[in-house]
Amino acid sequence: MNAVDQSVMQARSVESVVTGRRVTDGAGVRITRILTGDLQRRLDPYLMLDIFRSDDPGDYIAGFPDHPHRGFETVTYMIAGRMRHRDSAGHEGLLETGGIQWMIAGRGIIHSEMPEQKEGLMEGFQLWLNLPAANKMAAPWYRDFQAGEIPEFVTDQGVAVRLIGGQCHGIQGAVVRPVTEPLYLDLHLPAGTTFSERLLGDRNAFVVVYRGEVEIGPQKVGEGQMAILANGNDFDGVVIGAAAPARALLIAGRPLHEPIAQYGPFVMNSQEQLRQAALDYQEGRFAETTA
Ligand code: FE
Repeated sequence: MNAVDQSVMQARSVESVVTGRRVTDGAGVRITRILTGDLQRRLDPYLMLDIFRSDDPGDYIAGFPDHPHRGFETVTYMIAGRMRHRDSAGHEGLLETGGIQWMIAGRGIIHSEMPEQKEGLMEGFQLWLNLPAANKMAAPWYRDFQAGEIPEFVTDQGVAVRLIGGQCHGIQGAVVRPVTEPLYLDLHLPAGTTFSERLLGDRNAFVVVYRGEVEIGPQKVGEGQMAILANGNDFDGVVIGAAAPARALLIAGRPLHEPIAQYGPFVMNSQEQLRQAALDYQEGRFAETTA
């Protein structure tokens, strides 16, 4: 067993292990939804996590033509492939291998996410992060980060860390957000290494393994699985080990404890706000608020 980093005295245990569900979204893209609607309260402020991984163009070629979002943020992380983004605010960007796109939909955006490849592997993740009630109608914001723009470091043990969101070991990630304080790390663990990170016990946290297998305490978490980490004031951090080479995402955030009302791509706090979102979209107010 690996030595535990001294900075974490009481590591979080695994509360449950989740295996994703195959679904079809967009214009016919086959994905695995691993953070599903029934986990939105448990993993507050996170609303959804989709995994796409296929070398069959039939699974991804249709892409996600124009569709709206309101009330939350999307973070798309490309492990392999090329995807073109265009939106009603006039942004356009090409998301490529190792890059991320962070979008705050705020009061409304209409965008398309289309593959810019006709063959080969397309792999990545799309995470939905809720916005606090006070910020749901904020102006949209968007940024692409190419692979080289994402802060990276290697721990003493040799674990390579890509810092997509938040702060880790005193280093600031590509995006730092207030209120929900999202932590989003991509960990590349060589054989026989352990990664430790201090994390407050009230932060909801989960680990998604996408290569190999990791160990969190006595619990093994395999490729394609998500471990939901137990909360509690006794815990001061997360420790993840790997006997063989593995890659995993560690994602955590500060829960909002606000009502969640969702209708497809709109996530608000009440049914009335959802009706307003649908009306605003139908009447063309998403495009004009972002012009
Ligand atoms: Fe979208």
